[in-house]
This record gives sequence, C-alpha cells and structure tokens, in this order.
Amino acid sequence: MKELTLTSMFHDTLRDIYYAERKILKTLPKMMRAAQSEDLRAAFQKHAQETEVQVERLQEVFALIGKRPQAKTCPAIDGIMDEGDEVMDTYKGTALIDAGLISSAQAVEHYEMARYGSLCLLAQTMGNADAVALLKETLQEEEATDAALEALASKLMVGMSAEAA
Ligand code: FE
Ligand code: FE
Ligand code: FE
Repeated sequence: MKELTLTSMFHDTLRDIYYAERKILKTLPKMMRAAQSEDLRAAFQKHAQETEVQVERLQEVFALIGKRPQAKTCPAIDGIMDEGDEVMDTYKGTALIDAGLISSAQAVEHYEMARYGSLCLLAQTMGNADAVALLKETLQEEEATDAALEALASKLMVGMSAEAA
C-alpha cells in the first residue's frame, strides 16, 4: 500500500485538478459558442487562454515533486460540467442563457479556488516555495475570473426587466 503523507495528498490533489483543468479547457469553447453577449464570449476566450497556461504550470509543479503529469478522474468537475450541460440545453436560445452560463462557470471557478487554496497550503507546509508561487499565480487568475463573471452577471441583471422574473 502507498504510504500516506502530506506529499502523497499533494500529489493526489494535483492529479485531481490536472484532470479538471484539462476538462475545462475542452469545455470552454462550447461555452463560448453558447454565450450571447460579446462581453461574456470575450471573458470565456480570455480564460481559455489562461487555462492553457494553468495546465502548463501544473506540469511544472509535477516536475518540482519529481512526478510525471498524470490525471486522476475528478467526479466533482464531471458533475459540475453535467449540470452546466443541463443548463445549456434548458436555456439555449433564450434571454436567460448568459445568466445560466455565468452561474455554471462560477461553480467551476469556485471548485478550482478550493483546490488551489488547499494545494497552496500543502505546498507551503512541505516547504516547496516554487510550487507555492506557481499555484498562487493560478489561484489569483481563478479569483479574478470569478470576480469578472460576477460583475458580468450583475450588469446582466440590471438590464433585465421585471417581466423576466
Ligand atoms: Fe483553471
Ligand atoms: Fe476533484
Ligand atoms: Fe478557471
């Protein structure tokens, strides 16, 4: 049996988020196509580019702990994506699609923030400052994306008439 250590927990969590990031990278183009507003499409486009770099950063972190990049199925992101698909199917072609897409995307960002927060703390405890720096950079991008999405949602709601409720 594998020895359970802080490092093994870090490695498992890294494999989990590596799976999630690659799945997100595959899903963002679909969300981009589904978005109605130019602002939201641009936000997804920007984050797709960031996500590409985030995947590379994770590969660097694997190297820092002497492991090769390997994904481990993350049932949480699979579930969040399934819900997102459901929202897209339900609100496709309606005035509510962007609000639905933002809500789904924020669920993704919140999951990532939770994972990167834990990874930062584990890396810090392991004394791996290089890993902390890389993971923090990504954590800040996820937080900025979440904030940008929230601002877009607020703007969208202001534009909605009371009849839409
Ligand atoms: Fe990410
Ligand atoms: Fe997970
Ligand atoms: Fe993200």
